[in-house]
Amino acid sequence: MIDKREIHQILDGYARDEITIATMGSHTALQILKGARDEGFKTLVICKRGTEEIYQQFGLADELLIVEEYGQFMEKKFLEELIERNVILIPHGSFVEYLSPTRIENELFVPMFGNRMVLEWESNREHEREWMEHADLRLPKGFNDPEGIDKVVMVKFPGAKGGKGYFLASSPEEFDKGIKELKLRDKERFTIQEFVIGTRFYPHYFYSPLKNRLELLSMDIRYESNIDGLSRLAYIVQDRPPEPSFVVTGNIPVVARESLLNQILTMGQNIVKASQELFSPGMIGPFCIETICTDELEFIAFEISARIVAGTNLYINGSPYSQLLYNEPMSTGRRISREIKDALREDSLDRVIY
Ligand code: ATP
Repeated sequence: MIDKREIHQILDGYARDEITIATMGSHTALQILKGARDEGFKTLVICKRGTEEIYQQFGLADELLIVEEYGQFMEKKFLEELIERNVILIPHGSFVEYLSPTRIENELFVPMFGNRMVLEWESNREHEREWMEHADLRLPKGFNDPEGIDKVVMVKFPGAKGGKGYFLASSPEEFDKGIKELKLRDKERFTIQEFVIGTRFYPHYFYSPLKNRLELLSMDIRYESNIDGLSRLAYIVQDRPPEPSFVVTGNIPVVARESLLNQILTMGQNIVKASQELFSPGMIGPFCIETICTDELEFIAFEISARIVAGTNLYINGSPYSQLLYNEPMSTGRRISREIKDALREDSLDRVIY
């Protein structure tokens, strides 16, 4: 793990009025760049060759650096170039996936928004579960032994990337069939989880350590293929419907019944509190809890994303919730830069950058 003192020393050497907000060109980069520009920062985007066009087209980056491979991002010379430009990096989903949580924690010696430790806590399934249990969230029922399967379950694998390869089973036989079809090399590394029936909500939170405040900025539902298309087949395919899959293809905006907001906020607050107890200083900035609300109006949580999520792209101009909190268009990307700006003003960058 990179010593936070090393990062804070680098930060101390930065020219305060030349700070550049930078991210990798993918996922939520446009939103992050726009938010940084709206807050008055210089902006930089790092693109893999072939992906730069969209960032050139929208013109939100003052500077665009091209790498041939994402691995080049980690080269000492490249990182030093970022530091020379007074760069603060903003991590997002693709950033974490392409560079890997371990490499970000151990090699990426450029100041980054948020607590690096969360990456390990969200990407390691056991840790993630411990975190959610510590936060008293209701989780889907787990099955240690496939022989015990007596309801519809979802069989999950580590690193499945957007639910690819997950399958459903409702008996031990169906489980065996699913495993055989997948030709898994490592059959031990699956998790069996009750398939919760209800409506999904993916609330987008922001925790500000400076204000000691949790904000609900927006919410979405992921649009997933082919599961979200299957219902349309009911009258067409009679005997052999295709196997459901859960590959994210888009995001739909949603607001929750107002009487559910209390539960949604409490879940977020509990996640922040648990993170502070488990890995101080805990969660900083944006995160999302993936939940399903049952017809008993109870939320079951099945995953945490401890960074900006792609569903926030719906709200570059603000959401119904962010409009209640801010009298200006406040996206999650912009909220990140606002926190950095506030920290600069209070001379407390070391509370939000690690
Ligand atoms: P990502 O990393 O993009 O979040 P992932 O590979 O970790 O994806 P999950 O988010 O765990 O996958 O699950 C993918 C989708 O499967 C969810 O968005 C949801 O639709 C469905 N899903 C996951 N767990 C459950 C569950 N216990 N009950 C019902 N549906 C579920």
